[in-house]
Amino acid sequence: MTKAEIISIGSELTSGRNLDTNSAWLSRELAEHGIEVGWHTTIADDRAANLDCFSIASRRAALVISTGGLGPTLDDLTREVLAELAGVPLEYHEPSWRHIEGILRNRNRPLPERNRVQAMFPKGSEVLFNARGTAPGVWMRLNGTMVAALPGPPREMVGMFHDEVAPRLAGSGLARGVLVQRRIHTFGEGESAIEEKLSDLTRRGHNPEVGITASDATITLRIFGKGSTRAAAQAQIAPIEAVIRERLGGLVYGADEEELEQATAEALEESHLSLATAEGVTGGLVAAMLDRARWKRRCYLGGIVAHGLPGEALAGLPETTRLEHGSRSAEAALAMARGVRLAMGADLGLATAGIASPGEAGPEKEAGQAWVALAWQGGDACWPHHWFASPAEVRSRTAKKALNQLRLHLMERRA
Ligand code: AMP
Ligand code: MG
Repeated sequence: MTKAEIISIGSELTSGRNLDTNSAWLSRELAEHGIEVGWHTTIADDRAANLDCFSIASRRAALVISTGGLGPTLDDLTREVLAELAGVPLEYHEPSWRHIEGILRNRNRPLPERNRVQAMFPKGSEVLFNARGTAPGVWMRLNGTMVAALPGPPREMVGMFHDEVAPRLAGSGLARGVLVQRRIHTFGEGESAIEEKLSDLTRRGHNPEVGITASDATITLRIFGKGSTRAAAQAQIAPIEAVIRERLGGLVYGADEEELEQATAEALEESHLSLATAEGVTGGLVAAMLDRARWKRRCYLGGIVAHGLPGEALAGLPETTRLEHGSRSAEAALAMARGVRLAMGADLGLATAGIASPGEAGPEKEAGQAWVALAWQGGDACWPHHWFASPAEVRSRTAKKALNQLRLHLMERRA
């Protein structure tokens, strides 16, 4: 497989003022063209660093893509550096100058002589047209390696990659095949438990490759399909996805861009049931997540953040329960799930209780303990969990768990 290096140029990046998002985007995009990225290098607007970096990259990588350093100012060095390393002069390219003139005139901007450098290209290079800005890009060979120099602003970079670079990669033989990624999201078990169920798929050397990543208790499986066409790459994914879904069952809530809150909202819509929430430890996170979902029908009636006595009373927590078990307990979660359901006239009541930070822990309870409770007509259930995580993580994970338990309950009802 072709190995590529991405060079991000700009002192705003090395100083930490701006985040380098171009490299991440290019890596993902190149993977889809079957090109693996072996190096991300970030350098300041510094001549020596630029010379070093392009020289090293052009020796170790088969493809180099740089972003930034193509502007009209003195610290924009990419064109000069490429010409110097290739041992060629910079040549004036009249059509690029006309394009720059046209853009500046349309924007009612003056036409500084300085912009003329943007129409200068290393002799023998190809001009990459910039449909979204003044700075054209450069496509050339350096030490036998293909180099594409793109502008820094992400919108211009992305546009130029699609319009000018992707077709050249296809034509150059560098892009061998297509890599397609499919992400399967799960919630409810840890990374190692999931891995155990799939160890034959996630082992090194399995084809297609299956990776596993964890993010705030969401465990995601990534399937990488490779093929000479998109369809061939996709065909590798389908059977593996089917195996994963079959083995993990209800743990899987969605794929790719599908969010847990969306999956839960859709299950609720399909069930034709309405929901009310009462939140202790999650402090409104469950409501906020449900609010983010796209609803076709409003089956979420509302929620209470039950902090302090009045809030707890409104959520239906009886004083006897609070005195006997505390408001951070399984009993309190159950009472609030039942109470908020009745208070709002909903079919389902979902509640959370728990201890996010050590300061809230009592003699018999520890930080990280949390309870999710669900009440419905004629029944209720409570799920305890002990998170070993920061207070922010205890809150967000308990909110996810609440949505997930609701989703699982709705799935069971349907079955
Ligand atoms: P330049 O082509 O060097 O003039 O870049 C112009 C602007 O593009 C910078 O000021 C940044 O706002 C943005 N930019 C440059 N490089 C990157 C990068 N690697 N990731 C995200 N934004 C970038
Ligand atoms: Mg710059």
